[in-house]
Amino acid sequence: MFKKILIANRGEIALRIQRACRELGVQAVVVYSEADRDAKYVKLAEEAVCIGPAPSAQSYLSMPAIISAAEVTDAEAIHPGYGFLSENADFAERVEKSGFQFIGPTPESIRIMGDKVSAKQAMIKAGVPCVPGSEGELPEDPTQIRRIAKSVGYPVIIKAAGGGGGRGMRVVHTEAALIHAVQTTKAEAGAAFGNPAVYMEKFLQNPRHIEIQVLADQHRNVVYLGERDCSMQRRHQKVIEEAPAPHIPRKLIEKIGERCAAACKRIGYRGAGTFEFLYENGEFYFIEMNTRVQVEHPVTEFITGVDIVKTQIMVAAGEKLPFSQRQVQIRGHAIECRVNAEDPFKFTPSPGRITMWHAPGGPGVRVDSHAYTNYYVPPNYDSMIGKIIVHGDTRDQALARMRTALGEMVVEGISTNIPLHRELMVDAKFMEGGTNIHYLEQWLAARKR
Ligand code: ADP
Repeated sequence: MFKKILIANRGEIALRIQRACRELGVQAVVVYSEADRDAKYVKLAEEAVCIGPAPSAQSYLSMPAIISAAEVTDAEAIHPGYGFLSENADFAERVEKSGFQFIGPTPESIRIMGDKVSAKQAMIKAGVPCVPGSEGELPEDPTQIRRIAKSVGYPVIIKAAGGGGGRGMRVVHTEAALIHAVQTTKAEAGAAFGNPAVYMEKFLQNPRHIEIQVLADQHRNVVYLGERDCSMQRRHQKVIEEAPAPHIPRKLIEKIGERCAAACKRIGYRGAGTFEFLYENGEFYFIEMNTRVQVEHPVTEFITGVDIVKTQIMVAAGEKLPFSQRQVQIRGHAIECRVNAEDPFKFTPSPGRITMWHAPGGPGVRVDSHAYTNYYVPPNYDSMIGKIIVHGDTRDQALARMRTALGEMVVEGISTNIPLHRELMVDAKFMEGGTNIHYLEQWLAARKR
């Protein structure tokens, strides 16, 4: 096992990784920007290094700053968390070239999966079902683009090969709008992701977002830890996640889970990963793979009892997975609500000083957050300030626990989306389970009226 790990991230995930290190008896070094001096993960750390000013480009996204922090503190490995440099193949490569272990897959795996076009091609080869669409990147020629769209069938969605975080996508309903949409998406993708390549998929009308969590060691052992339903989204961003996915037959999940595990073996994958699918009419369609830990990993931890972050560190150190697929048992139901510092109606960010923070507790309740009373939420980063996760024997019990937890939670001084979560937890359709990816937006539009 490593003696010391550097955590190249901030916020709740930096704290989550620090806790895993502590359990493993590994020392953790945290890094922080000038804006995060007072964050909980920094205060709790034995060792902390300031890596630059508030803007991410000069701190959490600065490879030289992070690698020098690892050098001066004698860390052996670097955990990238999620976001920032976690899916940057060049960073993984530089980490390894500098003599540190990258806690994640190989740079090659990240590179293949980071480009959605090559990821889809790899999945097709591995026998994972994908959304029908263009074979690879779209050509320049408008006539050819029109022909492809016609054969895929409208509506189609134009997606950036290098896209992420719900950005770089455009739905097209008619041929008249096609070429302009392709050109705009290409221009945006070039500017935002440094890669203008786009591809086309059939736009599925009412799918659910279902994803499979995998864990792989360096000895060709791979397991899948069931699925998560992340269909409650706003602007392609997840708001509520749960596991297992309501009303999907176990047999179907097992079949797709086995395919994902087999694909991991085929591509020599190591570490934690997530296969994201759209699910419609009993069929799964792969959309992308995330080669890192996800925000929503705790729901899976609750229903399987597996500590995903600890296991990530163990397999990066060369250890074997401590359990087999047969030993993975799904127990009960878990739900996660992302707590964002934002207006619950207009969704404008609401940074500032938290004058009162009271987190809920009780059986089956977990709160992952770096916030506390008197914490200042900096305006520079993502608005998520924490997550409430609950576990129950049944989905109904989990819902009841989430209602209680949300009722106990107090955040004053800034606005949060907690009122929105409270409303959703008593919404009849959500309580039934199985809502599709458009449900939340439609619900929000109806609420406005
Ligand atoms: P990102 O990497 O930006 O998260 P994804 O490819 O994972 O992009 O897609 C994000 C979300 O966009 C999905 O969860 C879904 O809501 C929507 N989406 C993506 N592709 C399609 C599609 N072919 N049909 C319908 N919705 C889609």
